[in-house]
Amino acid sequence: MRHRTIPGSSGRPRPLRLYGDPVLARPCAEVTAFDGELAALIEDMFATMYAANGVGLAANQIGVPLRVFVYDCPDDEDRRHLGHLVNPHLAEADGPVIRGPEGCLSLPGIEAGTPRPDHAVVTGFTAAGEPVTVAGTGFFARCLQHECDHLAGGLYVDRLTGLRRRRALRAAARAPWAADRPDVDRAAAPA
Ligand SMILES: [Zn+2]
Repeated sequence: MRHRTIPGSSGRPRPLRLYGDPVLARPCAEVTAFDGELAALIEDMFATMYAANGVGLAANQIGVPLRVFVYDCPDDEDRRHLGHLVNPHLAEADGPVIRGPEGCLSLPGIEAGTPRPDHAVVTGFTAAGEPVTVAGTGFFARCLQHECDHLAGGLYVDRLTGLRRRRALRAAARAPWAADRPDVDRAAAPA
């Protein structure tokens, strides 16, 4: 019988990559080696997510451009969903589209009502290479879609339009963590 450990307890938090970092805007590569290095990456991702009080984290958010994400996220019925997915594929995103609050560890302190289908199914693999299917509704469905977006080089702010988008991008440009990021479009922020 295997000793059960708390995810992330053997990992170490790594620095988060923030909005404007090119690694967040590029599609991640498929994982081809299901080895100890992958297991260690997932541990570090859990440690990073917990240290930042997040509910999900994609590998490129710590600068590793591989198709991996971790989550520890409640749904709207307060059921806890905890796990990781390697080479995930968003197989279903359906049901009513709900505009709900969404934030991201790569845009700290910013939140915006973002439209997402209320139900999602993601297929993928465990760190051991076993096929797995994860289904979710409500806030957890939102989380699954958010993390899949990251691995495709996307961010939730890409899904915003009009005033909500302008507000979120202005807040990102003015955020303290954006201070020395010349690649963030400061022209978007009126003086
Ligand atoms: Zn995010």
